[in-house]
Amino acid sequence: MTAATPELLNRIDNVSVPALAGATLDIRSPATGTLVARAPRSSADDVARAATAARKAFLTWSTTPAPVRGEYLFKAAANLVARKEEIARVMAEEMGKRLEEARGDIQEAIDTAYYAGSEGRRLFGRTAPSELKHKMGFTLRRPIGTVGVITAWNFPVAVPSWKILPALVCGNTIVWKPAEEAPRSGHLFAETLWDAGLPAGVLNVVHGYGEEVGAAIVAHPEIAVLTFTGSTNVGRMIAETAGRMLKHVSLEMGGKNPVIVMPDADIDLALDGILWGAFGTAGQRCTATSRVIAVGDVGERLLPRLVERAKALRLGDPLDPAVEVGPVVSERQRQRIHGYVETARHEGGAVLCGGAIPTDGPLARGWFYPPTLVDQVRPGSTLAMEEVFGPVLAVLRAGSFDEAVRIANEVPYGLSSSIYTRDVNAALRAVESIEAGITYVNAPTIGAEAHFPFGGVKATGNGHREGGWEPYEFFTE
Ligand code: NAD
Repeated sequence: MTAATPELLNRIDNVSVPALAGATLDIRSPATGTLVARAPRSSADDVARAATAARKAFLTWSTTPAPVRGEYLFKAAANLVARKEEIARVMAEEMGKRLEEARGDIQEAIDTAYYAGSEGRRLFGRTAPSELKHKMGFTLRRPIGTVGVITAWNFPVAVPSWKILPALVCGNTIVWKPAEEAPRSGHLFAETLWDAGLPAGVLNVVHGYGEEVGAAIVAHPEIAVLTFTGSTNVGRMIAETAGRMLKHVSLEMGGKNPVIVMPDADIDLALDGILWGAFGTAGQRCTATSRVIAVGDVGERLLPRLVERAKALRLGDPLDPAVEVGPVVSERQRQRIHGYVETARHEGGAVLCGGAIPTDGPLARGWFYPPTLVDQVRPGSTLAMEEVFGPVLAVLRAGSFDEAVRIANEVPYGLSSSIYTRDVNAALRAVESIEAGITYVNAPTIGAEAHFPFGGVKATGNGHREGGWEPYEFFTE
């Protein structure tokens, strides 16, 4: 560690404090293994302090007029604009996303801050005539209390912004545990809100591990609402506790996103969409393309070019603008990814490119895994069904549109999906019949816009949405 290595602190009631037990955890760059930050390793006691601060702050924050609450978000948006480059570098360094992708992550938070800030003037209720003479009825939205926010590392700013900003403008207070792999990006995002003048106790950040801090947030009796993004296994555990304690809970979890390519598709367009959908952010997006379902003879035209382009992608330091694919987040994750490729080989898959851990040169210093294409993946096999969360793309074949949709729907997940076709009927039938929260036509599975609802069906979500207007329903009663 150098003298300049940042030491993060928790922030509770607008005071920066170490974990009560004094423990810390080291954050290392996945590209080089160097120490890039140290964060508090907090415990249930730190969460309890934060929950107390949040409960106290709720009294005044919940009665602050919503348009005034929105003003804080506009200031935070301006702070984010001013610090975008700084935060993007930190993000690239600590979790390995390329600079350009990190800028996009922060831009999503900027867009969300402007959108959410203006919702302060639109927390509409409804009015209706009553059955009673000379009476009318109306509804209004009230904040719920303290919201516990638990987020994954892969979008360390955008995803938290989808939760924190609507929750705040609705008048709730927050205890947030950023992902332990990317605490500094999260902390800097929170700083843009504190610097906007947010009153003490409204947004509290407690760093640490999921099993320690996350679980304590979930179980804390005074945290009434939980909003989580992460794996389906952890989401299920959170929902169990939340169910027992009658907490409101919103879950955004894993995906296994398909792209159907029809024989009449624009192949150049499909190639670009699949390449960036599968290998952008080294495949570590919840919306990453992880299955291509090639219909009819299109595979013969698509695959040789896809392999050629995947092989040509430049792996390396995410801070280098010439690099196209950065590292995966950890050695553990890399071993998991490689395990999936090995299993696919045993189950009859043909690895067309990638599929080996780099062992020399600068790539050997970090957690790199090459873009990998596996053909001949059978429906129902491990690689066809399970989320890999890395740069591995499974290719499945279908004889018809109907068969392609059946394959698309056979997985437990349902986040994003896409179809490449020039046939408007096939496009609309895909939108109607693919079991996913999002279906793109002639565009990749990745991406989100602040004003559209985002989220999945089946094992990806529990019916709530982020983005768009839907979160304002979730964060109010
Ligand atoms: P993860 O579930 O391991 O961790 C997510 C968060 O939960 C982290 O902050 C972690 O510390 C915390 N956590 C872990 N165990 C916990 C526990 N027992 N109690 C409470 N909190 C706990 O997920 P991950 O591997 O870090 O992230 C990748 C996953 O996130 C993938 O499955 C991906 O698809 C998913 N994801 C989904 C979306 C979406 O919008 N659907 C977006 C991004 C990521």
